Amino acid sequence: MTNKKIKFYILDTSAILSGKPFNLENVKMITIPDIEMEIKPGGKDYQFFQFLKEKGLSYQSPSEKSINEIIKKSKETGDFERLSNFDIKLLALSLDIKNQGDHSIVITDDYSIQNIANYLDINFETINQKGITKRFKWINRCQGCGKKFKDDINICPICGAETKKIVAKKQEI
Ligand SMILES: [Zn+2]
Repeated sequence: MTNKKIKFYILDTSAILSGKPFNLENVKMITIPDIEMEIKPGGKDYQFFQFLKEKGLSYQSPSEKSINEIIKKSKETGDFERLSNFDIKLLALSLDIKNQGDHSIVITDDYSIQNIANYLDINFETINQKGITKRFKWINRCQGCGKKFKDDINICPICGAETKKIVAKKQEI
């Protein structure tokens, strides 16, 4: 069996807005077509975006199956509300690339994207931030009586106060 994994950098918007050059040796850059709506024409960001496209940045839409898997996982961890449509699709593309047997590395500064990537054994690299060192789960806690809820409850059924998301569980990565 040959073991010729291709290394993919899956670029989040934050990776492009950073303007930081990546080491592009033996790496394929890829993102989702929705990126066109994220980077406004004109200015430095757009120039860098064009530069990356010239260097081979390509687009791919994620599979429906992976999108559903990301939604399911992010609901489990409590990250769902923190993820935009873009984030979900980008994670789904990362999962598709991993499932096709290639080396999938998400480039992002978004903690929720990092958290889900971690749960799905997808590698990530950060640009400006330090990156998460623990994986975590969110739960809702009532700001009135302090009761904790696993489900996504916004108003406490006991005292009627609003709940707030807190980190329930941390695991060393
Ligand atoms: Zn309460």
